[in-house]
Amino acid sequence: MLQPDRETRAEWTKAVTAFVEEFVEGLEAAPASAPGTALLPPPPAETPGELADLLAQFGQAAHEAVETAGPRYLAYFPAGGLYSSVLAELLAQVTNRYTGVASTAPSLVALEHSVIRWFCTEFGLPEGSGGVFTTGASLATLSAVHTAREHHDVGREGVIYVTAHTHHCVAKAARITGFPAERVRVVPGLRMDVATGRSMIAEDRAAGLKPFLVVGTAGATSTGIVDPLDDIAALAAAEGLWFHVDAAYGGAFQLTTRGRAVLHGISRADSIAWDPHKSLFLPYGTGVLLVRDEARLRAAHVADGDYLQDLDHGTGLPDYSDLGPELTREFRGLRVWLPLHLHGVAAFREALDEKLDLARYVRDALADVDGLEVLPSELSVVVFRAADDEMSERLLTAINDSRRFFLSSTRLDGRYALRLCVLSHRTHREHVEELVDLVRRLSAAPAR
Ligand SMILES: *Cc1c(COP(=O)(O)O)cnc(C)c1O
Repeated sequence: MLQPDRETRAEWTKAVTAFVEEFVEGLEAAPASAPGTALLPPPPAETPGELADLLAQFGQAAHEAVETAGPRYLAYFPAGGLYSSVLAELLAQVTNRYTGVASTAPSLVALEHSVIRWFCTEFGLPEGSGGVFTTGASLATLSAVHTAREHHDVGREGVIYVTAHTHHCVAKAARITGFPAERVRVVPGLRMDVATGRSMIAEDRAAGLKPFLVVGTAGATSTGIVDPLDDIAALAAAEGLWFHVDAAYGGAFQLTTRGRAVLHGISRADSIAWDPHKSLFLPYGTGVLLVRDEARLRAAHVADGDYLQDLDHGTGLPDYSDLGPELTREFRGLRVWLPLHLHGVAAFREALDEKLDLARYVRDALADVDGLEVLPSELSVVVFRAADDEMSERLLTAINDSRRFFLSSTRLDGRYALRLCVLSHRTHREHVEELVDLVRRLSAAPAR
């Protein structure tokens, strides 16, 4: 009963395909958010259900949400979810190959490895570099912090240097790997003030602590701003620290000429975390950790068990279970490999370039709106505010209540700011023009 016959499979596939088509076709017109009541559905029954009913239930639940896949979702980091990646996922799941160890599916592991190799090349990492796909940048960062700690062999007296704009996943990783909160030191600056960082390191050494890791951000979550990666690399080299770059958002802009200039210095990193589920437009669940020296990543994660003795480890390919915490893992490579080959890399470079252009357009257009102030931002993030916090908050509420767009907010220098990021492959010029018109209208006649 758990294996449907051919006819049933065809019927189910047809129903799901029809749902998918209607969903994708409806995205352009769909409201940017829809309210819901989140009633807990009943537990599963002993008897079979009807796919049509279950699809309807799913459809309603999916509808009562922020339309994160739509072209007008500009909050946080939009991820459209490339259709080609969705199909890759179907293929990966239906074949269900085991890729934790290379020998059980060497050619598939080679395919995944080819993508990692290409990433390393794009980031300018040397021979001997490598990496592993993760669920997202948070887990990539966790593995990076763990690897840095093992490599430098520090205990609780190890110190990590970040800025106030570093993503909280670094503090979380530090906490999980056993560092007390005070071992994460905040270097001042909207972009890391490297000279101050240097003196903080000296002070910490004098106090008997062990500085071992400095984190640069390539595209801060609030502002998209990129730290001075070259200067941080030089600091790390001079002080003998591990240099980690959190490029979760900004990483893919390395594929563009403009982005590459902004990210200059990233090739000197010991490790880079980035999220194809952000700036490669993939569905949620795909991050990657790249490391300058794959051997260090392996040394920090490798483990063995008697039950694995039959597996041949001599393929010359990475055994991904040795490069991260997972043993059984999803075959994430295909959802990156298929889109890159099917669309071609140029399509990604162009789409990312388009996002940079659209963000610049929005920045310039909002700067001309009376009563708005556009704050410093980089890449495809735009940050702005009204005359005071209350007016800014009211403006965001009015924008989101229109249900045409969904934006988010942040705080800069203690003040409330509206924030948007142009990053969906579905967002184009006509969408951001509509947004600018809406903001102009709402700021001229603020809701009271
Ligand atoms: C999104 C983000 C993260 C966290 O990544 P997840 O994929 O959500 O785990 C970390 N750092 C930065 C800069 C981010 O933008």
